[in-house]
Amino acid sequence: MRLSQMLFVTLRDDPADAEIPSHKLLLRAGYIRRIGSGIYAYLPLMWRVLQKVSQIVREEMNATGAQECLLPQLQPADLWKESGRWDTYTKAEGIMFSLIDRREQQLGLGPTHEEVITAIARDMIRSYRQLPLHLYQIQTKFRDEIRPRFGLMRGREFIMKDGYSFHVDEASLKETYQDMYKAYSNMLRRSGLAFRAVEADSGAIGGSGSTEFMVLAEAGEDEVLFTEDGKYAANVEKAVSLPINAESSRFTTYEKRDTPGSETIEKVCQFLNCSPTQVVKNVLYQTVYDNGMTVLVLVSIRGDQEVNEVKLQNELTKLASNYGAKTIISLNVPNVEAQQTWTIKSLPLGYIAPDIADEYINNGKQIHPQFVRLVDQTAVDLKNFVTGANETGYHVVGANWSEQFQVPDNVVDIRKARLGDRAIHNPEQTLQSARGIEVGHIFQLGTKYSLAMGATYTSEQGEEKPLFMGCFGVGVSRLAQSAVEQSYDKDGIIWPVAIAPYHAIVTIPNINDAQQVEIAQKLYTELNQAGIETLLDDRDERAGVKFKDADLIGIPYRIVTGRAIANGKVEVVERATRKSQEIAIDEVTTTLKQWIKAAIEQ
Ligand code: ATP
Ligand code: MG
Repeated sequence: MRLSQMLFVTLRDDPADAEIPSHKLLLRAGYIRRIGSGIYAYLPLMWRVLQKVSQIVREEMNATGAQECLLPQLQPADLWKESGRWDTYTKAEGIMFSLIDRREQQLGLGPTHEEVITAIARDMIRSYRQLPLHLYQIQTKFRDEIRPRFGLMRGREFIMKDGYSFHVDEASLKETYQDMYKAYSNMLRRSGLAFRAVEADSGAIGGSGSTEFMVLAEAGEDEVLFTEDGKYAANVEKAVSLPINAESSRFTTYEKRDTPGSETIEKVCQFLNCSPTQVVKNVLYQTVYDNGMTVLVLVSIRGDQEVNEVKLQNELTKLASNYGAKTIISLNVPNVEAQQTWTIKSLPLGYIAPDIADEYINNGKQIHPQFVRLVDQTAVDLKNFVTGANETGYHVVGANWSEQFQVPDNVVDIRKARLGDRAIHNPEQTLQSARGIEVGHIFQLGTKYSLAMGATYTSEQGEEKPLFMGCFGVGVSRLAQSAVEQSYDKDGIIWPVAIAPYHAIVTIPNINDAQQVEIAQKLYTELNQAGIETLLDDRDERAGVKFKDADLIGIPYRIVTGRAIANGKVEVVERATRKSQEIAIDEVTTTLKQWIKAAIEQ
């Protein structure tokens, strides 16, 4: 392609609304254009990158025996009602765009395709002989994200590869899951990315067992905890660890103490001269279930620890049926105004004990009259602990479970693992922390959707059984941008060769020099014919401008038909290292071919 014929517009300055380097660079270099909040046009250079990523994804998927298809983006609401996700997705989480057609039928724009694929499997899979089966597609997804940001990283319209597998049993599902683990690792390695596979929370999609593939970058929205020995890595949402040991308590007898102005752990510890590891902290949450029921939650945890709200939400979701509900709509720490909606009298905030009376809750119709009390193991393990006295200005010290306080029914792990904690598999290893961008997520769904939607098969023994399912997603557009987030310098993008829009750019420093033009054109043709995807910068611009643009758009190799042509050579510059060398004109193609091959096979 000749730059003179392309829609080639680069910006000198950073666009005002872009926060992270990759977003700024893709806008500046003319790869993408913002059309609306979370909505972007993929301009020709970007589209080439996306095609390359898609091709790598496709090759790795096909190599596992998965088959490509294309499912509808317009999805009838009825399917989502069958799985029970319509209300959660359109109202509670509100992530799905929904619409009503001219026949007054409700439809959703696909944020994901479990329902569609399960409906197909229900109709078309009859026998164990057809299994296992794995279908995938590469397609635009729609999600009405609360906070679209960072360009393609969190769009409202983005490209995803999603695959769904069907199995006779869990063992077969696990096999495919392992194959996907490898395929995903291959995709990311081939795309030139530094990544980590981590244990993940399965979230609203449900099921058990999932792995996220994280591209390591400071701008990542996720925190990853891992050990040096490579044996443990998890998303902080899911991570487990051993907390530091609690100090033994300096209080041996139970008594109530006057602790004025000590409503935080820090203050009470200062006042009583004790360690936060000797305190049972009681944190209040408010959750609303999908049937509108508000439930107040009291979490007891060791004073130096924090609550992991993802784990908490999962525990509360497990309890949903106690309240006649299926899932949770919201979970938060209620502020004073929120508390006023359900308290009869004001709570002794900062002085709450694990047994705070249910009488604080007014008997509203949509409000459960009792606290649900959850206690983290770190709090259960304490002896002679300090905690609130349920009275403003007072704490108790030297308290013990089964003496002054009953251990709540729900002993759970809702503690946030953190940097520096000891690892469970080997306490000598401590957890390290890194930021990551989630580009892929593989799940073992099990029978969640097949049971809900009645997707069964006939087993070898002639029994009708629910299909086991797996689902496997890659954010193709997010992956492409992550590559930039991981690889750029002050002058612009440095694409990994495997996903660069073009391999090479031939730059003519002076288009009024007939010899420069002639050699450049000849090389341009020859390189393209040899399968080296090459641009020709034949614009009537100063050489400096052309070099800057080539650096900005990040093409791996720049070939300059400058002074060296007098000696039958051209200058070849490698974008990543800025290494420059003069190469004989008739050796350029073979040399580049080798370099590119080596770079892609890395
Ligand atoms: P996230 O946790 O980032 O919101 P998710 O867990 O909802 O993502 P999945 O449903 O697992 O995502 O989707 C599969 C993949 O699609 C993700 O791993 C991610 O790479 C990509 N993805 C998800 N949401 C977006 C988005 N809004 N914009 C771009 N890519 C996305
Ligand atoms: Mg996720």
